[in-house]
Amino acid sequence: MDRKKVLIVEDEKNIVDILRFNLQKEGYETLEAYDGTTGLTLALEENPDLILLDLMLPGMNGFEVCKTLRDKGRSTPVLIITAREAEKDKILGLDLGADDYITKPFSIRELLARVKANIRRVAMVQAEPPAENRLDFGRLVIDKGAGFAAKDGENLELTQRELELLTYLASNAGKVFSRQELMERVWNYEGYVGDVRGVDVAVRRLREKLEDNPAQPRYIITRRGAGYYFQKD
Ligand code: CA
Repeated sequence: MDRKKVLIVEDEKNIVDILRFNLQKEGYETLEAYDGTTGLTLALEENPDLILLDLMLPGMNGFEVCKTLRDKGRSTPVLIITAREAEKDKILGLDLGADDYITKPFSIRELLARVKANIRRVAMVQAEPPAENRLDFGRLVIDKGAGFAAKDGENLELTQRELELLTYLASNAGKVFSRQELMERVWNYEGYVGDVRGVDVAVRRLREKLEDNPAQPRYIITRRGAGYYFQKD
């Protein structure tokens, strides 16, 4: 079995030590960077399977690292480490293309579960057979194999997570999914009981790219008090 590589970008040495120790114990290979610039360089050169990214870093901060990575077309899962209660940071981080966040102080068990879920999600996407990989809704075409969605012939430039969310909803058109269900099935969090607002942020971002008028969505519809569904026509 090939070992998965996790890049830790964090300037607090004791946190890096704890993360490195526990990740290696779980069988991961680790890389460490103590500032944002080095983190970005390692992310680009070493192509890790996941990045644990602190936000407050010397030099380039975590937001800039994440945004630059996405601007360069890298879809490596990014798990942001934020200080407690920094709600704005979480939302901004997700907006900039991070996949997930975990709040300091975190439990090692939870962190390892998140790392595993985010790496597994990518592996599952890559393992899908190419046959039923194309969903055609006329103006909108979703190609899971090639990893893109296009509307009116133009690539929507979705992030990995947005594409997975759209694909999941579109593959089950008309069926309403609660935020909880989407957390479990798109984010791969089994029995997730925490914050589900990440789903709303992802839906909002997806609508901005997908809908003619994001305020009056035509594809991703909200069912009040229930969740979201994809409307075919
Ligand atoms: Ca820091």
